[in-house]
Amino acid sequence: MPDPCIFCEIIAGRLPAAVLYQDERITAFQDAAPIAPVHILLVPNHHIPSVNAAAPEDEAVLGHLITVARQLAQAQNLQESGYRLVINTGPNAGQSVFHLHMHLIGGRKMPFHFK
Ligand code: IMP
Repeated sequence: MPDPCIFCEIIAGRLPAAVLYQDERITAFQDAAPIAPVHILLVPNHHIPSVNAAAPEDEAVLGHLITVARQLAQAQNLQESGYRLVINTGPNAGQSVFHLHMHLIGGRKMPFHFK
């Protein structure tokens, strides 16, 4: 683990962040460099470097990321307009923070670029 992991520091409250949701399993906070009107990061509270390191016992917390993302999307009135959930994994995907995180992105039209 990088020392310190910035997302672990945010989860622990040692680094400032605009936290929108936190429970015993996950934390959601505003992305520091938003690429859309809504750009929220959802992270497991325990350190998982990437999807590559996710274990079978992480399945419940990874599913929880999605259901809380849906709740946050509804709170941001995105359920009709739509939104994107993204987990970048590894160099080709551009992962820059190695604490697994899901981006919730919405509030503008996004091009389809997964080709
Ligand atoms: P990745 O490229 O999928 O790894 O996404 C990392 C995201 O973390 C980027 O969208 C960054 O803007 C965001 N980020 C990096 N540092 C911080 C921080 O300290 N607070 C909130 N978001 C951050």
